[in-house]
Amino acid sequence: AALYKIDSWGAPYFSVNAAGNIAVRPYGAATLPHQEIDLMKVVRKASDSKSAGGLGLQLPLIVRLPNVLRHRLESLHSAFDFAIRSTGYGAHYQGVYPVKCNQDRFIVEDVVEFGVPFRFGLEAGSKPELLLAMSCLARGSPDALLICNGYKDQEYVALALLARTLDLNAVIVLEQEEELDTVVEASRRLGVRPVIGLRAKLRTRHSGHFGSTSGEKGKFGLTTAQILSVARKLQRLGMLDCLQLLHFHIGSQIPSTALLVDGVGEAAQIYCELARLGAAMRVIDVGGGLGIDYDGSHSSVSDMSVGYGLDEYAEAVVRAVQYACDRKGVPHPILCSESGRALVSHHSVLVFEAMSSTTVAAVDPANALGPGLTYSLEDLPDDMQGDYRNLMEATFQFDCEKCLIYTDHLKRKCVELFKDGLLGLEHLAAVDGLCELVAKEIGLANPVTTYHVNLSLFTSIPDFWAIGQLFPIVPIHRLDQRPVVEGVLSDLTCDSDGKVDRFIGGRPSLPLHEFGGGKEGGYYLGMFLGGAYQEALGGLHNLFGGPSVVRVTQSDGPHCFAVTQAVPGPSCADVLRAMQHEPRLMFEALKRRAESSAARGGVVNAGAVATALACAFHSMPYLVVGGEAGGDGMS
Ligand code: PLP
Repeated sequence: AALYKIDSWGAPYFSVNAAGNIAVRPYGAATLPHQEIDLMKVVRKASDSKSAGGLGLQLPLIVRLPNVLRHRLESLHSAFDFAIRSTGYGAHYQGVYPVKCNQDRFIVEDVVEFGVPFRFGLEAGSKPELLLAMSCLARGSPDALLICNGYKDQEYVALALLARTLDLNAVIVLEQEEELDTVVEASRRLGVRPVIGLRAKLRTRHSGHFGSTSGEKGKFGLTTAQILSVARKLQRLGMLDCLQLLHFHIGSQIPSTALLVDGVGEAAQIYCELARLGAAMRVIDVGGGLGIDYDGSHSSVSDMSVGYGLDEYAEAVVRAVQYACDRKGVPHPILCSESGRALVSHHSVLVFEAMSSTTVAAVDPANALGPGLTYSLEDLPDDMQGDYRNLMEATFQFDCEKCLIYTDHLKRKCVELFKDGLLGLEHLAAVDGLCELVAKEIGLANPVTTYHVNLSLFTSIPDFWAIGQLFPIVPIHRLDQRPVVEGVLSDLTCDSDGKVDRFIGGRPSLPLHEFGGGKEGGYYLGMFLGGAYQEALGGLHNLFGGPSVVRVTQSDGPHCFAVTQAVPGPSCADVLRAMQHEPRLMFEALKRRAESSAARGGVVNAGAVATALACAFHSMPYLVVGGEAGGDGMS
């Protein structure tokens, strides 16, 4: 556990049990030992296609843990509750979940259900998100907020107003000044009075990865002048009472409470000014930004960490709003946050399997040519003999610096001559082998092993590729054994970027166990803290679809867990359909081809070919590792 810093980034939800497997603690620190879920047992049950209780799902697999989600939501709420009580703040906290973080139906439904006692609501940033939020919130607390952010057209605004007629507490947050006219026009046309919020473009700037939305040049929000102009226009229209909320979002993963206090303080001043101008202000919405400690360093200078926890975040928000409002004599507003990453990251673990491993082994130049073929390096062209002899001499003298120089010379010259057609393939292979041997001999060989994993980085960890985001990746078993190699992970895609070669803590490789050495018959790894953003951002590169999903809750049974939902990942036919192909027509065309080939005496059994094709369309795009390919024919 210490090697992978599990206690730092994983607490209080993930630890290592006596069997050397990752244990999930569904209720955080309050989890009793007999309530811990052994993640390896979950994977075994999910992937088992032979026993009666097995679910036969193919990996990669997302394990969703709704108990953890509930615990996160309750912890967020109690952090604010505590800060409010201990500072004497005069209003309550009610958060919203920004569905963009993960729009999965069951996650949103869980958030709404778990959030009922806390008036927890939802935030939407597009028409489909608004539709799903409206539908899910119909079962939520009647006081829950439905924050309508994002670019808005007539239809979006009309939908948000419709939500109010359905007794949903929808607030239309203006991101652009022009949106006001759309709102006013739609509200007149539909006869529905809107509740309006403003998104302020703060001067406070978050300089990290996620801060491009902040500062005066940020993409979103209204400038001071625009805020004033909207307030005046609403006043002229007799609608200033509709303006009730001030929102800002300075970016995700806010690194420190100092920056947070700066932003909240600035926004609280704007809030107070709007109250002074006569708006019926009620809510300050501090947006997202509540960060996650991905590398466990608790640092405000690392992009992969934040220097605070839930309690410190909540206290900073409460105190900053209280301070500004008290100085201006403005009643304390309801506090709202749009915390997405902090809510859903922990509850989802991506499990994937290593399929093989390769270490770039030093090749004996004498053997590099294959059996029966020999080639003497003494036969190298004359102008390379000098470099060859120098390299040999440096190697015998164990002079690393010179070895590097002569290796480089020799290789470069070789490649040049090869490109000019003056060197044979055998020469090239023999020189490569020699250079590797030398590197190994003098201890310069890179001993990193590549583990090939049954995963698409572009589908499942897109932020790693897009913005260099690091997530904790750890074997989920064999943690009672010392890892023996340093490894990097190479995915299934035919893309050189499909490789994880940076890990938390700035490591270029990950300590891993010998491939094939465990009793499980496979080597399983987990990517943790990836519950936010990765699923919706993930693409279909190489047509790998999403992973299979299981929803796992703590239960009192012998295994401490129950799988309450199991969904196989999309099939080849599904991903083809997503790109406008028509699997049925494709199948029919290929089947006809097999039949006509059989008629000409080519294919022996057209029926068997059709069955194999049907199985292929039904199968998952990922590789079948250590199991049999499934498929029930394209009936
Ligand atoms: N609110 C808005 C307007 C956002 O753009 C975002 C995402 O960046 C969020 C909330 C969620 O932020 P986070 O995941 O940092 O909580």
